[in-house]
Amino acid sequence: MIKVRFAPSPTGYLHIGGARTALFNWFYAKSQKGKFVLRIEDTDQQRSKKEYELEILDSMQWLGLDWDEIFYQSKRFDLYRQHAQALLEKGIAYKDGDAILFKMPKRSIKVYDVIRGEIEFDTAHFIALDEQGKPRLGERGEPVLKDEVLIKADGTPAYSFCCVIDDALMGISHVIRGEDHISNTPKQILMYEALGFSAPKFAHLPLIMGEDGGRLSKRTGAVAVSDYRHKGYLPEALVNYLTLLGWSPGNNQEIFSVSSTIKNFSIKKINKAAAVFSLDKLKWINAEYIKAKDVPSLVELLIPRLKENQNRQEPLDKAWLEKIVKLYKKRFPTLVDFLDRTAFIFKEDISIAPELQETLQQSKRAKEFEILVTKLRGIESFDAETIEKDFREVVAALDIKASDLVHPIRIALTGSAVGPGLFETMEVLGKKKTLKRLSQAYA
Ligand code: GLU
Repeated sequence: MIKVRFAPSPTGYLHIGGARTALFNWFYAKSQKGKFVLRIEDTDQQRSKKEYELEILDSMQWLGLDWDEIFYQSKRFDLYRQHAQALLEKGIAYKDGDAILFKMPKRSIKVYDVIRGEIEFDTAHFIALDEQGKPRLGERGEPVLKDEVLIKADGTPAYSFCCVIDDALMGISHVIRGEDHISNTPKQILMYEALGFSAPKFAHLPLIMGEDGGRLSKRTGAVAVSDYRHKGYLPEALVNYLTLLGWSPGNNQEIFSVSSTIKNFSIKKINKAAAVFSLDKLKWINAEYIKAKDVPSLVELLIPRLKENQNRQEPLDKAWLEKIVKLYKKRFPTLVDFLDRTAFIFKEDISIAPELQETLQQSKRAKEFEILVTKLRGIESFDAETIEKDFREVVAALDIKASDLVHPIRIALTGSAVGPGLFETMEVLGKKKTLKRLSQAYA
């Protein structure tokens, strides 16, 4: 039976690194028809916060990472204390004041890591330091090894110890976690042995670095999953991108579904080398998912954002929104970009940037605009086709090129020099705003 776990500490939000760890565990469980356990490691009562815990659960649900079981370490303190007591009785642990410590033996420990192969550690490196940060020396001048705290002086259990007891008692078959936990592994192996448990298999995932080659920082993308959600990334795009941070199906394919990853997933295919987080790549993937999504679903995703943005309660016209989304579908990498790019449609009046205002004024099309306004005012059904027909008639009558008018019209209507088809844009903008903006352009 394959059983894995994701074990976040609720001392911060769910970040990219944590989400990737959760995802790889989940993929492994799904691919092996195993179980995925969520274990909230809230032993640190000062730093653990309910707000973080709720955000972690919410972000996991949003990403689609469902769990089979959930545990809270804060509810299991008695269990950890009982095991510490048992080690005290066996003479493997000892008491120092109110704390219980594990006596560090001097020996080598081999860890087999499914991704990295065999790693050998020597406990001789676990040296105790004095207050000045210098190695503490024993009677014969030899460095003293650092014993592991199992139960702290305040009675709360230490992370490494709880982790071992839980992984053993929960029947975890594979511990898949970030590379930053490699150094804990030998100490945990010693505890498995001391407690008489057999150790699970270990797989340490590669680090995720920023594009500057350093640790992932806020600037290079280390923000909470919920931030990406607010910025208008789709969960399926984020899942796809996170999967690429250390894994690939092996055929240069970059866009793939969750079900195909479940089918192809194997721990052995996970890279050893660090992964680099690229915001541009994530954005590109998100844009691909938006392009592939059907228009009505996009409209449903956008409605709450539009309402919030416009501070409106009354319902929006879905058929009209579908037209706008269709028109902009290839032009918004995130849902927030949609709001930015189409804001001119929803606003009553727009402001035109000074340099575009200059371009507009220099084109001197006041007379042509007036003629066009008169023509368009006569249209009853204000649709792209009719608008285009009338526009072409005006252009032919004035004996000018269509392109002479398109550019200034676009600026006057949208406040931007680029955008999708002009006649479709006029249609979604509506007759009233179109005529108003054209009339005011040279006023
Ligand atoms: N609670 C630890 C953390 O958030 C994870 C421990 C583990 O996966 O073994 O980093």
